[in-house]
Amino acid sequence: MRKSCLLLFVLVSLSGQVLLAQTYDIVIKGGHIIDPKNDIDAIMDIAISGGKIVSVSKNIDTKQAIQVVDAKGLYVTPGLIDIHTHNFVGTQPDHQYEDGNLAIAPDGFTFRNGVTTVVDAGSSGWRTFPTFKAQTIDISQTRVLAFLNIVGEGMRGTYEQNPNDMDARMTAIVAKKYKDIIVGIKLAHYTGHDWTPTDRAVEAGTLAGGIPAMIDFGGSTPPLSIEELFMKHLRPGDIFTHCFGQLGSREYIVDLQTNKVKPFVYEARKRGIMFDVGYGGISFAYSQAIPAAKEGFFPNSISTDIHVGSMNDAMKDMLTCMSKFLAIGMSLHDVIQASTSNPAKEIKHEELGNLSVGAVADVAVLNLREGKFGLFDYTGYKVEASKKLECELTIRAGKIVYDLNGIVTPIYPPKVVVVNKQSALNGDTH
Ligand SMILES: [Zn+2]
Repeated sequence: MRKSCLLLFVLVSLSGQVLLAQTYDIVIKGGHIIDPKNDIDAIMDIAISGGKIVSVSKNIDTKQAIQVVDAKGLYVTPGLIDIHTHNFVGTQPDHQYEDGNLAIAPDGFTFRNGVTTVVDAGSSGWRTFPTFKAQTIDISQTRVLAFLNIVGEGMRGTYEQNPNDMDARMTAIVAKKYKDIIVGIKLAHYTGHDWTPTDRAVEAGTLAGGIPAMIDFGGSTPPLSIEELFMKHLRPGDIFTHCFGQLGSREYIVDLQTNKVKPFVYEARKRGIMFDVGYGGISFAYSQAIPAAKEGFFPNSISTDIHVGSMNDAMKDMLTCMSKFLAIGMSLHDVIQASTSNPAKEIKHEELGNLSVGAVADVAVLNLREGKFGLFDYTGYKVEASKKLECELTIRAGKIVYDLNGIVTPIYPPKVVVVNKQSALNGDTH
């Protein structure tokens, strides 16, 4: 008994010394950092400790680190933020994206893409949010935030057409109750020729303390005017998702007669309307995105609208969406900005999406691969690209959560027993 106590004390002391000797948990060495918020676009090192970024500078001593990531030849960016996802996965028959089988569990598809934060886009409403929180948000390693659907039931197919279940007051009450998680209000899929759902979503956002509304502008017959939407119904800061969609039942931003972005779209941008990709199954068409790109009109935020349909079709994942914008002329810096600090700003969480000292250590290490890549959209139009982004490694809150090729040394951190330093010195192992 005495012997085992003594042995335990020796082990604890040794591990205590290991802990005390290292200044940093992780050092990312020699990568090309792109951190748009801090205007950094250079080869530098990053040190991480206690889940936070503690240093960004040239030549950080790797001897002070428990683990070292060799990022030479790779890009190091803030953990990516995807503000249009569907993660309320469940087993209810015919519930679609609300507790149904069309949604996907976040951790399975985020980290392998450098994504550390997702914002579920209205899969749940005020009535169903607690279930979503308990069965997905609370148990995911990915940071899961949410736009709350203006429909109390959430995205449960035909329920989305019921204006009687669009209660701005109840939606705002629940949004305020969970204000650390709910970052906005969502309207989606409404097909009536009627402004009521839009106005209720905006009203809920205002009642909840000024959080943005994200609008998926349904498919009204005849289509409702997006000029009226941008200039009369939305507030500055509200988000127009599916901005490069080209469906018959929705007005689109590029005029097909002139192949130019409609002039009022620029006015809307000046007014503060945010243009989000929300790629999805059929909500992105090159016939909209390429003419817009030629004019230099790029999205404020790049997002996937990931669900079981889109991820197995043209969309695939966050890095494929980002690679498509690279391929049509958006700069790498701007692509990263539209996937980090810009979406953070849109959801009013500017503490995210950057590599500032003191920020939570959410980091993506990306490889810009060279080769021959076919990046097609749902219409079958294909852009041949010579570059494509791939995720090498992802860090979430200071922990390595994905490492494609084992670029960290040692690959797994040594197991340590955390002890109270004073009690270890006293030999108190109880
Ligand atoms: Zn969606």
